[in-house]
Amino acid sequence: MHIGILSRNKSLYSTRRLKEAAEARNHTVHIIDTLRCYMNISSRKPEVHYNGKMLPRFDAIIPRISPKNTFYGTAVVRQFEMMGVFSLNESVAISRSRDKLRALQLLSRKGLGLPITGFASSPDDVDDLIKIASGAPLVIKLVEGTQGIGVVLAETTQAAESVIDAFMGLKANILVQEYVKESGGADIRCFVIGDKVVAAMKRTPEPGEFRSNLHRGGSASLIKITPEERKTAVDAARIIGLNVAGVDIIRSDRGPLVLEVNSSPGLEGIEKATGKDIAGQIIEFIEKDARPHKNKTRGKG
Ligand code: ADP
Ligand code: MG
Repeated sequence: MHIGILSRNKSLYSTRRLKEAAEARNHTVHIIDTLRCYMNISSRKPEVHYNGKMLPRFDAIIPRISPKNTFYGTAVVRQFEMMGVFSLNESVAISRSRDKLRALQLLSRKGLGLPITGFASSPDDVDDLIKIASGAPLVIKLVEGTQGIGVVLAETTQAAESVIDAFMGLKANILVQEYVKESGGADIRCFVIGDKVVAAMKRTPEPGEFRSNLHRGGSASLIKITPEERKTAVDAARIIGLNVAGVDIIRSDRGPLVLEVNSSPGLEGIEKATGKDIAGQIIEFIEKDARPHKNKTRGKG
C-alpha cells in the first residue's frame, strides 16, 4: 500500500516508528508536513497539493495532528476524505476529541462514567458552578488544553473562585471538575486500536504533582486492567469515532471514569512501558480495514 503520514516532524518517535513498521511490511511511506499541504476545493475533483505538485494517490493516511494545528490539520484530513482516501482517524472524530467539553457531552449521552463536570461562561455563576463540581478541592481545565498544561487543582473554594475568575477574565473556555481523590492523580492510558485495548499503562504523577502526564514528569508502569475498564475504553473510542485512540481512565470508588480521549496518542511511552509493537499493530489494522471511500462519520459533527 501507499501510506501517507501527516506529521510536522519526521524525527518524532511516533512518526519514525510508524514509518519503520509500514516499511517493514513492504508498504511505501511518505511523511507529509500537514501545514505544507494546500488544497483545491473549488472543483468537483478535490486535490491536495504539496511542494508545487499534486500528491500521489494514497491508499491510507495516518493523521498525527498536533493540538496546535487542529483547525488546519482537520481541514487537510477532510480533503483527503473527500478524495475517498481512507484516514486512520477521521477529521470529525479528531475535532470531537480536541474539544474536551464536546467529547464529554458525547460520552455522557451514552452513559459512560465521567467525573462530575460543570461548564459556565459568566463570573456570576461561579458559586453554583463550584457546587455542581461538588466543591473544593476541584480541578479546573482549559477546554482545549493538552499535556497537562492548563489543568489546575484548586484546594480551597477561595482558590477555585480566583482561578475561575482569572480564566473567565481572559475569555478562556474552562471546565470545572470534581477532583477524584481516590486516584491520587494516577490514571490509566488505554491504547485502543479498532475494538480492542492493545496495551495499557498506569501513569503516576511525580511527588508534589497531581497531573500524571509523562510530559509533566509522571512515570509509567505496567497494569492489568479490569474487563469493565477495557469496555469503557473501547466504548469511549467508538463513541468519539476514533479507530486509534489513547483513552485516559481514572479509577474511582464508583468505577472507571473517562478523563479524555486522545486522537494522536504518543507511541513512545506506551511502547517502552509495555514492550509491545504498537506501530506494527496500527499498520496491521490499516491493512485489514483501509478501503477507498470508507468513512464512518460521513462529515457529521
Ligand atoms: P490533558 O489533556 O492536559 O492531559 P487531562 O484532563 O488529561 O488534561 O488532565 C491531566 C492529568 O491531570 C490527568 O492525567 C490526571 O493525572 C490529572 N487529572 C485531571 N483531571 C482530574 C480529576 N478530575 N481528578 C483527579 N486527577 C485529575
Ligand atoms: Mg491527558
